[in-house]
Amino acid sequence: MTRLNSKIPAGPLEEKWNTYKATQNLVNPANKRKIDIIVVGSGLAGAAAAASLGELGFKVKCFTYHDSPRRAHSIAAQGGINAAKNYRNDGDSVYRLFMDTIKGGDYRSREANVYRLAEVSNAIIDQCVAQGVPFAREYGGLLDNRSFGGALVSRTFYARGQTGQQLLLGAYGALSKEIHKGSVTMYNRRDMLDVVIVDGRARGIIVRDNVTGAIERHSAHAVILATGGYGNVFFLSTMAMHSNGSSAWQAYKKGAFFGNPSFTQIHPTCIPVHGDYQSKLTLMSESLRNDGRIWVPAKKEDALKIQKGELKPKDIPEEDRDYYLERKYPAYGNLSPRDISSRAAKERCDAGHGVGSTGLAVYLDFADAIKRLGRNVIEARYGNLFQMYEKIVDDNPYETPMMIFPAVHYTMGGTWVDYELQSTIPGLFVTGEANFSDHGANRLGASALMQGLSDGYFVIPYTVQNYLADQFKVPRFSTDLPEFAAAEKDVRDQIDRLLSIKGKRSVDIFHRELGKIMWEYVGMARNKEGLEKALSLIPELRAEFWKDVRVPGKADELNPELQKATRMADYLELGELMALDALHREESCGGHFREEHQTPDGEALRNDKDFFHVAAWEYKGPDQKPELHKEPLKYEFIEVKQRSYK
Ligand SMILES: Cc1cc2nc3c(=O)[nH]c(=O)nc-3n(C[C@H](O)[C@H](O)[C@H](O)COP(=O)(O)OP(=O)(O)OC[C@H]3O[C@@H](n4cnc5c(N)ncnc54)[C@H](O)[C@@H]3O)c2cc1C
Repeated sequence: MTRLNSKIPAGPLEEKWNTYKATQNLVNPANKRKIDIIVVGSGLAGAAAAASLGELGFKVKCFTYHDSPRRAHSIAAQGGINAAKNYRNDGDSVYRLFMDTIKGGDYRSREANVYRLAEVSNAIIDQCVAQGVPFAREYGGLLDNRSFGGALVSRTFYARGQTGQQLLLGAYGALSKEIHKGSVTMYNRRDMLDVVIVDGRARGIIVRDNVTGAIERHSAHAVILATGGYGNVFFLSTMAMHSNGSSAWQAYKKGAFFGNPSFTQIHPTCIPVHGDYQSKLTLMSESLRNDGRIWVPAKKEDALKIQKGELKPKDIPEEDRDYYLERKYPAYGNLSPRDISSRAAKERCDAGHGVGSTGLAVYLDFADAIKRLGRNVIEARYGNLFQMYEKIVDDNPYETPMMIFPAVHYTMGGTWVDYELQSTIPGLFVTGEANFSDHGANRLGASALMQGLSDGYFVIPYTVQNYLADQFKVPRFSTDLPEFAAAEKDVRDQIDRLLSIKGKRSVDIFHRELGKIMWEYVGMARNKEGLEKALSLIPELRAEFWKDVRVPGKADELNPELQKATRMADYLELGELMALDALHREESCGGHFREEHQTPDGEALRNDKDFFHVAAWEYKGPDQKPELHKEPLKYEFIEVKQRSYK
């Protein structure tokens, strides 16, 4: 029996969110002061939520493992943020953004959530402009836009190649104002290690002070997790080195269902892997595909010569180049969505047309754009990205095409939440990349920032209040409760156990090994045999980890290896759930490509009859198979179609 209730308000799609806001329960301003809220994470989703709730008058405690909220992974976002302003008068609307997002996610997201996201998008831009975020402007002073994948309009607002940084500085400003007022208390350099449940509700967290090693208990009336995505399960990804899935995993083990864990986004434009000892991959923003053209040599023999260093890209004449995205998807061309573009790159490389010394790369070429617009224009648009590329690859992309290849970039899966962004644990809310909510099986570019800020500024301040409306009578919680003591003991036991193994292999060695398994069998193309293999290899690796990992140092000191080890213990379980989820989903949709389920021309083949649902997994205990719950997706307002970008 499923326990899932998505709590979608009744009524027409365009009125659901307004109806919700007009009828939700409110908390009187004098009572708000009596209520504590914990926000874990100070990226865009967390900083926006903490600032907004503080401004409303709640007492907020905000936690981050960084030394400053400004260092959250959101700062890395380059390309932009979507909104349906239709400043270009090119046919955009809330409905079109909604439809593009639903179609982009291959009809695996919740209709009402996605509509709300599109509806709120315009307010985000107004909010950020009011905060002073320096969005790019046209000569006349109006906000500029560019295009991102999966859209035929220009709706992406940007600040050069540093949009996330500027948005985060805006949110940080709002947060700092509340810290100064005393409504938000900031706890930097704290690692959340468990969530505490009292009488079935989330009432606190256990954290470790990463500088002193002290274990602390913190209580609240509600807990919000805004802890980002878990793409680093794959070891190599474009995500910040510290991004992790641990808090979502802790919540899962305490009863929060995990939604669509296998839905991972592979981004097509990353700098290719160049060696065995690399620990990080670099994204080249999707915005580059506005002007860059993607191609490989049409003749295999040319590709081979390029791989051996006998030919250069400029030696390949125009007629011998295959602009495969323009050829296969003429309507969207180089701005085809990420899942489709990534697969097309892989297909060309697998067929022997890849470039670079490994043959695992394709070209992203700006020669035409430079000829058409001039180098100055390209430099103004993408200068910092070109500079970054040159620094890493030691090649000048103004003169020779960039080389790119797909890499893990984002996780659409995450903690299952209802329309209120509440998990299956009452009082535990999850926002931003950490939840599974709005992107279905594939996220469109520039929509993660939109979702994080929508959740933080515009959704959670309403929905948390609705939950808290009857909580002001509950006195502040003592952290002396047995539930806090038990959670703290579990955390201490785990740390002691990790330190006492004193094995021979470092955490990174295990992480790299897990990453290889994940990429090989749970990566861009999956099949039954490979997933079963992953499901046997991961538990073996986990057993070795618990026998042979070496975690130097002590518990009561700054110990980055210990931090990594606690996360690794979680990845070794989360990776298994991802493989299980991918195995259960006998269809291809968005970024989840099961080789057994494809159209004759190699496109993803959905199975709406059997898999038109969100897979929400329930933890059943150590070494027990988790239970699958299905949230059926009901599309009341739009027709579900086969996705096409041709
Ligand atoms: C290179 C790159 C470029 C991108 N560019 C774009 C773009 O142009 N447009 C777009 O829309 N999206 C982009 N994305 C995606 C987007 O940046 C992220 O999805 C988004 O910023 C996530 O925001 P968040 O607030 O949910 O989480 P994050 O920004 O990841 O913040 C997580 C927060 O949680 C805290 N935290 C996590 N775990 C713990 C713990 N256990 N204890 C304490 N604190 C914890 C961290 O300290 C941090 O403060 C990009 C992603 C990458 C990797």
